[in-house]
Amino acid sequence: MSRCSLTPWLLTWLMLLCQSGCCFLDSLIVASSFRHVHHYINKSNLDQGYCERKRKLSSFGGWRLSSEKFTATLPIDPIEKNYIREVQDSIFSVVYPIPFKSRVLLVAVSKEVLEDILDLDVSVSDTEDFLQLVSGGKIVLGSLPLAHRYGGHQFGSWAGQLGDGRAHLIGVYTNRFGDKWELQLKGSGRTPYSRNGDGRAVLRSSVREFLGSEAMHHLGIPTSRAASLVVSDDDVWRDQFYNGDIKKERGAIVLRVAKSWFRIGSLEILTHSGELDLLRILLDLVIEHFPSISMNDSNRYLAFFSRVVSETADLIALWMSVGFAHGVCNTDNFSLLSITIDYGPFGFMDSYDPDFVPNLSDDERRYKMGNQANVGMFNLNKLLQALNPLLDPRQKQLASQTLEGYPDQYYKRFTELFKAKLGLLGSGDEDGYLIAFLLKLMEDVKADFTMTFRQLSEISLDHLKDFSISEEFWALQDIAKHKLFSSWVAMYLLRLQRNAGDSESDRKRRMSSINPRYVLRNWMADSAIQKAERNDFSEVRFLLQVLQHPFKIQTVAERAGYAQRPPAWAKEIRVSCSS
Ligand code: AMP
Ligand code: MG
Repeated sequence: MSRCSLTPWLLTWLMLLCQSGCCFLDSLIVASSFRHVHHYINKSNLDQGYCERKRKLSSFGGWRLSSEKFTATLPIDPIEKNYIREVQDSIFSVVYPIPFKSRVLLVAVSKEVLEDILDLDVSVSDTEDFLQLVSGGKIVLGSLPLAHRYGGHQFGSWAGQLGDGRAHLIGVYTNRFGDKWELQLKGSGRTPYSRNGDGRAVLRSSVREFLGSEAMHHLGIPTSRAASLVVSDDDVWRDQFYNGDIKKERGAIVLRVAKSWFRIGSLEILTHSGELDLLRILLDLVIEHFPSISMNDSNRYLAFFSRVVSETADLIALWMSVGFAHGVCNTDNFSLLSITIDYGPFGFMDSYDPDFVPNLSDDERRYKMGNQANVGMFNLNKLLQALNPLLDPRQKQLASQTLEGYPDQYYKRFTELFKAKLGLLGSGDEDGYLIAFLLKLMEDVKADFTMTFRQLSEISLDHLKDFSISEEFWALQDIAKHKLFSSWVAMYLLRLQRNAGDSESDRKRRMSSINPRYVLRNWMADSAIQKAERNDFSEVRFLLQVLQHPFKIQTVAERAGYAQRPPAWAKEIRVSCSS
């Protein structure tokens, strides 16, 4: 009997068992034909622990995950065995996480994700069931874990089948607001898509993803979220800098959540292999995330493309507005919902530098900060190629025109965001020039990106006018060394005078609410990682706390030097694709 045919029978049997009351939380072991023994978290005691007032659950009783959205509508890979292979005619393979052999330790949780998205009181994270769930040891009864088949263009070339090589979609959670969130473990073992990989993720990269994605959310940037981070004592071997120095590291897993994990590469692989019926089915599923697009509209693929074009332009402009470089903008890492996904060797730049490349492995500097918008265009073009077989000639022409509009959309959004960063209201002909002028000065003197904007938000205009810039405004002191800074300030002050109905305090408040004081700089992440590798996770948790309020001055963060000039050793930090 194949696993797929076995599964519904098995689940029905298990559910009956639960309903009959003879189900104990830790007593269910489902081995049978599955390669790995798996416990299930049961759904008994449906009302136990349910806190009506807070609408948060203090146990897993009543907490459900389902994979039905995918298993009921999409063809599932019929091969049950988990071995590396090319998969055809399927969007997902059923594949179970591979639990670690050693003990697992919960490093950190995002209380907000647990409580606001997953309806779980944070106290649930103290339970063994939680640890089992987030480390791939248990699967919630009723949900089948899935690995997604996708392809992608990596560093400009078609790479063929990629897929979830170390991630498992453990189910979809529908929360109290009716929002559906897809839960995915990353680092949870090999799948048919693992290619040469071991299916694991190491602690350092998992800390970075956990903190990076939460930090981005709190900066107001669309992103996947991170619910938890666990580490094991399982050995994972990595050549971190690709120099032959292979070191033993520890395996870790992040539980990430997103409204959807589908990427440009999810569609590309179907077009490349001529699976056009499946392409249509998947597209319709993705389009459900865009309620303004009618499923009966014969132009819906066109409308969808147009949305992705404008939302990608938005997303990349937002990245630029906080000095974020993704690092690996391959089409398999570009979400169809235009959220930031697949955090790898990303970086928030310290000094402003359009040539900033966060990823040591990016020899061509393809994904440098200043090239992200162009890469967005390249990726959207690949999306259009994937959609092309479903478009008629007129739609193709309109889609090409939409794509041609991308640079303008990007530039418009970029300008809006930077105008807001400078506190400008209304519009002035010179606004674009004012922004470009400042960025050029910043580039010349290697001014700190985050703190230049932040300190412009905090300084009084009188002080700026007189150049009485005190020590605390260290980033402005740096840029003030540029011989053209005074010309820029003169222009800036004139322009601010044209802000209708503005006041100094309003301007400061407005600017301080969008120019962060704290971003996850590499040195901050690195310091937390170094401690984490010595089993001290306090700094990971501390950073999470701080980065949840990036716009608010926090005494503890100030004391930690997070708004200070980065330490000299920050320049030595290297981040590679190895994760
Ligand atoms: P990334 O650039 O990290 O998003 O990964 C690109 C592709 O490589 C995806 O298909 C991943 O699933 C796969 N991959 C990366 N690392 C591993 C690993 N350690 N084991 C298996 N697959 C991996
Ligand atoms: Mg990826």
